[in-house]
Amino acid sequence: MKIPFLDLKANYLELRDELDAASQRVLESGWYILGEEVEAFEQEFADYCGAKHCIGVANGLDALHLILRGYEIGKGDEVIVPANTYIATWLAVSYAGATPVPVEPNPQTYNLAPENIEAAITPLTKAIMPVHLYGQPAEMDVINEIARKHNLRVIEDAAQAQGARYKGKRTGNLGDAGGFSFYPGKNLGAFGDAGAITTNDDALADAVKVLRNYGSRVKYYNEVKGYNSRLDPLQAAFLRVKLKYLDEWNSRRVFIAQSYLKALSDATEIKLPRVPDGAEPVWHLFVVRSSRRDELQGFLNESEIGTLVHYPVPPHLSEAYSDEVFRQESYPVTEESAATVLSLPISPHLTIEQQNRVAELMLKFEKDKISKKQTT
Ligand SMILES: *Cc1c(COP(=O)(O)O)cnc(C)c1O
Repeated sequence: MKIPFLDLKANYLELRDELDAASQRVLESGWYILGEEVEAFEQEFADYCGAKHCIGVANGLDALHLILRGYEIGKGDEVIVPANTYIATWLAVSYAGATPVPVEPNPQTYNLAPENIEAAITPLTKAIMPVHLYGQPAEMDVINEIARKHNLRVIEDAAQAQGARYKGKRTGNLGDAGGFSFYPGKNLGAFGDAGAITTNDDALADAVKVLRNYGSRVKYYNEVKGYNSRLDPLQAAFLRVKLKYLDEWNSRRVFIAQSYLKALSDATEIKLPRVPDGAEPVWHLFVVRSSRRDELQGFLNESEIGTLVHYPVPPHLSEAYSDEVFRQESYPVTEESAATVLSLPISPHLTIEQQNRVAELMLKFEKDKISKKQTT
């Protein structure tokens, strides 16, 4: 049984008729930039998140960057980011001209460890940018409290967590503003690049709306040096279809994750993710840790099980940031995580037979390793 890490085409096939109709509607409308389709999606996604505003943009990186620009965070400012995130979180800060200041995660939840944040705050700090990594919401109560105490903005990187809840509230409504990506592989994925900003802040919503469209409110009158970062109406139409199925598709992911957690609950070599109180993750990824990660990945690969590493090189060690000097010489929790994490197949289209097969092989690896340990 060959099990790919992810089969994106299955997304299309399940909703084919509705998606075909949506694309037809846009093509026949004669309107191809912003307009009604984008506005309808913005309204629907704002309602879904429980936020007052949603502003569609071209991708997730732009969403984060435009929020920072909208808050006038830039040169000379510092933004706290997780050390263990996808590089886009950091790049958004760098694009704005500010400095990303890495903070170590909790190795079991993979999210920003709130107890490490205050030590990283300086008079230059303007914002904290928690990432709801792998679909699990960060511990927002503590993060918001620290932010309030130090007068900082909280900007959620919700790229991996559409629909996740923290203490009953959805991501995108847990800080000052949230940046979403609808990259095809995300829980709510478009069929191309797409992104959005959510916020309850009227002034920010207005600012980013102007920034995404060349800095103009009225065509050819430019107030600020803006960008071309508009959500494509064709993608908006696809997203409107997929948004209706998001909760159901997320619940299929929850079911798979719970099956993995149950099957592997006695494992010792393989370490499972921990869900903190109040967090309702949507399992964008199911990430385990093993000190023999490469061996485990090779073993699964031999049985035609696709896995990935999210992410093999933390941003502070990437060539892209080799010119920057960081406050700490090393970020050991993050570096260890990069060396031990492995993402198992999980998606709304993974069958229970496939999930069982992966779990079975994981247990086989675990057993072989432990018996080997005992004989040596
Ligand atoms: C996907 C992702 C982004 C960026 O999204 P794009 O749409 O690819 O620009 C940002 N942050 C995180 C954590 C992501 O996973």
